[in-house]
Amino acid sequence: MLKLNGLKLLHFKNSQDAQTVDIPLPKTVKIPMQQHMGAPCTPTVKVGDQVRVGQLIGDSDQPFSVPVHCSVSGTVTALEDYVTSGGLPAKRVVVETDGLQTPVECSPHTVTNQAELVEAARNAGLAGLGGAGFPTHIKLGYKDVDRLDTLVINAAECEPYITSDYREMMEYPDDIIEGIQAVMKCLNIGRAYIGIEDNKPAAIALLNQKAAGTSIRVEALRSIYPQGAEKVIIYNTTGRIVEEGELPADKGVVVMNVTTVANLSRYLRTGMPLTHKRVTVDGNFVEKPMNVRVPIGTSVEDLLNFAGIDRERVKKALMGGPMMGLAMENLDTPIIKNNNAIVLFDEAEAEAPHTTACIRCGRCIDVCPMNLMPANLEKAFDAGDKEELERLKVGLCINCGSCTYVCPAKRNLAQKHQLAKAMLRRKK
Ligand code: SF4
Ligand code: SF4
Repeated sequence: MLKLNGLKLLHFKNSQDAQTVDIPLPKTVKIPMQQHMGAPCTPTVKVGDQVRVGQLIGDSDQPFSVPVHCSVSGTVTALEDYVTSGGLPAKRVVVETDGLQTPVECSPHTVTNQAELVEAARNAGLAGLGGAGFPTHIKLGYKDVDRLDTLVINAAECEPYITSDYREMMEYPDDIIEGIQAVMKCLNIGRAYIGIEDNKPAAIALLNQKAAGTSIRVEALRSIYPQGAEKVIIYNTTGRIVEEGELPADKGVVVMNVTTVANLSRYLRTGMPLTHKRVTVDGNFVEKPMNVRVPIGTSVEDLLNFAGIDRERVKKALMGGPMMGLAMENLDTPIIKNNNAIVLFDEAEAEAPHTTACIRCGRCIDVCPMNLMPANLEKAFDAGDKEELERLKVGLCINCGSCTYVCPAKRNLAQKHQLAKAMLRRKK
C-alpha cells in the first residue's frame, strides 16, 4: 500500500517565470547514441557526411530502443566512444555546425489507431522526457490495449529548482491538450488526468481553461515529494495501486510526462522529430535562473557560458534536481533528451556531509513512499547479502532520495540502494 505522506521540501522554483530562451547555436554538438532506457543506437552516418536538423543519425534493430536525430545542420567530424552515466559503452556523433540549421524535409502525420501512434512516437525519437527516458513507443504499444482506460499526464515536477515542465505548460498548453487527445483517440482511452502539484496555480488555471469541455481533468496534487514518481502519481490521481512486478498498464493506466506528450503533438503537426530540449539552469548561487532551449548534444559548458555562470563558484554540478540528479564529472557532458535541469552548488552546499552511525530512528522508513526499510537495505548491501536484498524488495526502490534527505546520520542510503539493484542485475 502506498502512503500519501511524503517530504515537504523547499521548492526553489526561482526560474518559474523565466520564459524559455534559445541558446545561440554552438560550434559543435556531441549527440549520444544512448539517450533512453534500453539498447543503444548505432550511428547511421559516417565522418564527413553532411547532416540536417531532424535527420536520423542513429538507430537500432532492438525493439527496446529509441532512434536519435540530428539537432543541427553541418558536418559529421567524429564518431566518439564514451561511457554512459550508467557505465555502459556507447558512441556519440560529433557534428560541426554550419550555422544554417537546414531542416530535413518533413510533413504532418495523421494517426488514427495504436499501430500508427506507436510508429509516430518511435519516429519522433521520444523517450520519457521528465528524466526516466523510458521509450514512449513501448509504453504506448501495450499489447492488451483494451485494458487501458486512463491516461495520466505527469506534470508534478516535484524536484526543487526544476521548472522545465512548468514552462512547457505555460508556453505550449495547446500542444499538451492536442497530444493528450491524440493518445486518447488512438488507444481508445476515455479519460485523462493531468497531475500538477498545487505550487503551480497558474499552470493549473491555464490547463483547466484549455481542457474545458473535454474529458481531460486537471488534478491539483499536494506539493509533497515525490509526487511525480510514477506509482505515486497513479495512486494520487486514480486511486489504483501498481504492485511489485506490475506495469501501470496492467492497472489500465498509461503515464506520460507532460513535455513528452507536447512533443508528440508537435511531431504529429510538423513531422519534425525531437531535436531540442528545454533545460532549467539554477542553483544556490545562480543570480539569473533560466530556462534555455538547446540543441540536443550541446555541452553543459556551452550552456553555462550562455547562462553567465561564474565557473569558479561551481563546486557541484547536477544533471537533474538535488534529490535525484546525477553529479557530473566534467562539464563537457552533452545535454540529452531526458535532461531537464542543470543544478549548480557552490562550496557552501557542495560539501559532503559527515556520516555517522545509524541511530535506528526510523525516519527513513517513515518517509519512504514505497514502504521499504532503507536502513536494513543498506545493511544488506554492505554485507553483500543478495537474498536479503531481494527479500527486502530493493527492486521497488524508485531512487527518490527521501531516505537520504531525512537521515540525521547523513547516511547515503539511496546511492547504496542503486548499487544494490545493479548488484542484483549482475547476478541475474
Ligand atoms: S530512495 Fe528508495 S528506499 Fe529511499 S525513500 Fe526513496 S524509494 Fe524508499
Ligand atoms: S534515518 Fe538514518 S539514522 Fe535513522 S534509521 Fe534510517 S539510516 Fe538509521
